[in-house]
Amino acid sequence: MISVLEYLRPEKLDDALHIMGGGEHTPAAGGTDLVLQLRDGRPRKILDLERLGLDFIRNAGDIIEIGSLVTHAAIASNPLIAKSLPVLSRASSLVGSLQIRNRGTVGGNIVNASPCADTVPALLLYDAELVLKSSGGTRTVPLSQFVLGPYRTSLGPGEILHSIICRKAEVSTGWSYIKLGRRQAVNISRMTLATSIFMNGDGKIGSVRISAGSVFPTPSRIPRIERMLVGRTPSQELYRQAANIAADMMIKESGHRWSTPYKKPVLINLLTRALTEAQSKLIAGMVS
Ligand SMILES: Cc1cc2nc3c(=O)[nH]c(=O)nc-3n(C[C@H](O)[C@H](O)[C@H](O)COP(=O)(O)OP(=O)(O)OC[C@H]3O[C@@H](n4cnc5c(N)ncnc54)[C@H](O)[C@@H]3O)c2cc1C
Repeated sequence: MISVLEYLRPEKLDDALHIMGGGEHTPAAGGTDLVLQLRDGRPRKILDLERLGLDFIRNAGDIIEIGSLVTHAAIASNPLIAKSLPVLSRASSLVGSLQIRNRGTVGGNIVNASPCADTVPALLLYDAELVLKSSGGTRTVPLSQFVLGPYRTSLGPGEILHSIICRKAEVSTGWSYIKLGRRQAVNISRMTLATSIFMNGDGKIGSVRISAGSVFPTPSRIPRIERMLVGRTPSQELYRQAANIAADMMIKESGHRWSTPYKKPVLINLLTRALTEAQSKLIAGMVS
């Protein structure tokens, strides 16, 4: 049984921030994660963010700003995001079910900080920065520094996530997004890999971005592998070599666990596949 002491639904951002400043209310967006906490009797005072006008998508030069209340369904069906942030578009289209995508928001996905949050590895690929607001002002934090661990973030007291700023993908960038789960529908990720690749005119790798969910303690880019690949001629051997190093890094950072004999070969195969898929999109002309 769910019981709530107070439920507020302000229509102005300043009012919401003032209420949050009191330190008693928990913000609610789509409620798809929060409802599980409510069943356990926490939190007791809810501040609904739905009417604050945070469901915007703004195109501004080489960046796109996404309001925290934009749903996964709205992101997945937005043509600008499909063109300029294709990995995010794909990740959002794979969240949960149609019902979850219609309610669940990108902001809730980030702040909940589940290790299997689907949008986080995709957003890391686009150097996402988070705009956090409180009654005391505004600050901007790179997403890479926001998630501190499973279900832990650097969101301060009284703060809400206002919006997410993403750098658009370079033109002619191949990409891939692989979500490994136990089933096809309503599939919670066991591992997520997001990649993008840009080739120089000489056939060598000009730039590459790789991020991973449920591989390291927090979703993260893998800069060591990115640096290793730049300037090299792409091949299956090179990608497999890179994937082997990534697997060694995973074991070093996350420790040897009961799941390691499964996860190590899976990471090697999936990362090899993810890089190959990104490159083949370039060859096929399916680029951002
Ligand atoms: C059946 C089911 C399937 C699911 N499948 C997936 C899946 O495949 N992939 C996936 O990634 N997730 C999945 N989820 C999890 C969930 O749907 C997503 O994480 C969703 O994006 C959460 O967004 P929300 O708007 O519902 O957040 P809420 O539940 O409203 O909030 C989640 C948390 O974030 C805080 N919060 C929300 N918005 C803000 C804000 N703007 N500022 C500050 N704090 C905020 C809340 O206080 C709460 O602690 C699934 C959930 C269910 C129930």
